Order: sequence, then structure tokens, then C-alpha cells
Amino acid sequence: MATKAKVAKSKLKAAEIAALYAQLAAERPDPRTELDYTDPYTLVVAVALSAQATDVGVNKATKRLFAVADTPEKMVALGEEGVANYIKTIGLWRNKAKNVIALSELLLEKYGGDVPRNRDALTELPGVGRKTANVVLNEAFGEPTIAVDTHIFRVSNRTGLAPGKNPDQVEAVLERVTPDTYKKGAHHWLILHGRYVCDARKPACWRCGIAEICKFKTKTPNPADAPKKAKPAAKKLAKKVTKPAVA
Ligand code: SF4
Repeated sequence: MATKAKVAKSKLKAAEIAALYAQLAAERPDPRTELDYTDPYTLVVAVALSAQATDVGVNKATKRLFAVADTPEKMVALGEEGVANYIKTIGLWRNKAKNVIALSELLLEKYGGDVPRNRDALTELPGVGRKTANVVLNEAFGEPTIAVDTHIFRVSNRTGLAPGKNPDQVEAVLERVTPDTYKKGAHHWLILHGRYVCDARKPACWRCGIAEICKFKTKTPNPADAPKKAKPAAKKLAKKVTKPAVA
């Protein structure tokens, strides 16, 4: 008999999930991406450039790039070498320059230069995977998509909100358990919480607003509560004792 595939579940109860999102929403009422962009096209390019690079690094590069090319037409006119010259400071720049030109050409060819509001169409663009497509749908078009990056993956597993072995599993659980009212902001709240509080190496559990809900077992204690190091009193005493007596 065929065995049923196990469907991953949240370790949190519905009330805990609602409380977790309510807290994150209260901390950041108006969350948005930290990538700079002006329209769906510049967002697609910025997100495509952000793989294995920091948002700060991408913003530095795109500030100069978008000043000369902020439309598919201008980008194609600039050419692969031209794009490469602006993005050499970020990782995988050679491949990314190639993709930016190819995706701009495809947007012109198939969509008149517009960015399609559709996940399948977006993932057809060179350099645009499911994660990038979800970010674009959420950020540029207001769709309730959740793109699972390294921060969301970590926070979802540690808290027990959406455990999973890979980003697809985590995304499936998040989509199922996230209340509709929080779906639009969930992506940002979880990323920003992972980036600024639930750090990969040392989560700041002592100042975490969702610590009471989180199921992570080895929470980081407040460094201020660590016992102070004892003063080397023994050394001082030894010096006193060995001092020669004055005649
Ligand atoms: S309590 Fe710690 S592990 Fe849990 S979400 Fe907060 S920072 Fe992360």
C-alpha cells in the first residue's frame, strides 16, 4: 500500500501564530524592502542582482546603473559590458549582467517592456526564480506571496512557525498557516526579524518580542546578566606577602 507523504505542520497553535504576527506587525507597522527601486522593472533588476549580495551593496550599484538605464530599452542599449561596469562590486556580476540584458530583451519582446503580474511569466525571465518572482509580486503588485530566503527559512524553523527541510516546504506551511490579514506583510516581517533580531549566529532572544511564543530551545541569555569576572585578588595578596621587610 502506498504511504501518504507527510505534510509539514506548524508547531504553533493558531492563537500563537496570530500573536506572533501581531507582535511583528506592531514592531514594524509599515514594512518594505530595503532595496531601492522606482517601479516594477527596477525592482525586478534589483532583486535579480541581490542573490548572494547585500541590499546595501546592490543599492550602491543600482544607484549609478539606474541613473543611466531605468527601462528595458535603455538597459538593452547599454549592453552587457555596459551593465557589467556598474555592477562589478557585487557577487556573480558577470552572470547577472547577462541575465539583466536577457530579461530586458524578453520583457520588450513579449510584454511591451512591462513586468507581468504573474508568477509563471516572471519565472520565465532569465535570472528570476520563484523567490524573486514572489518578492516582485508582493512588493510591486501587493500580492500576498511569501518568498522564503535564508532569514525567513531560519526564523520559520527556529520559532516552529513553519518547519521545513527546504524553502519550498517552509513556503507551503507559511502559506497555509499565515492568517489572511498578515499575508501581505509576512514576507517583510519575517525577513526583518531574521536580519535584525534572530541573527544566524547569535539570535538576540533577550530582546526578542516573540520569545515567549518561539519554540527555539537554546535561547541566548541577556549578556548583561552574565556573571562578572572575578578580580585577580590572589595575585595582589601574593605580592604583599613576598615584599621584603624594611630594616
Ligand atoms: S526567541 Fe530567539 S530564536 Fe526565537 S525568534 Fe526570537 S531571537 Fe529567534
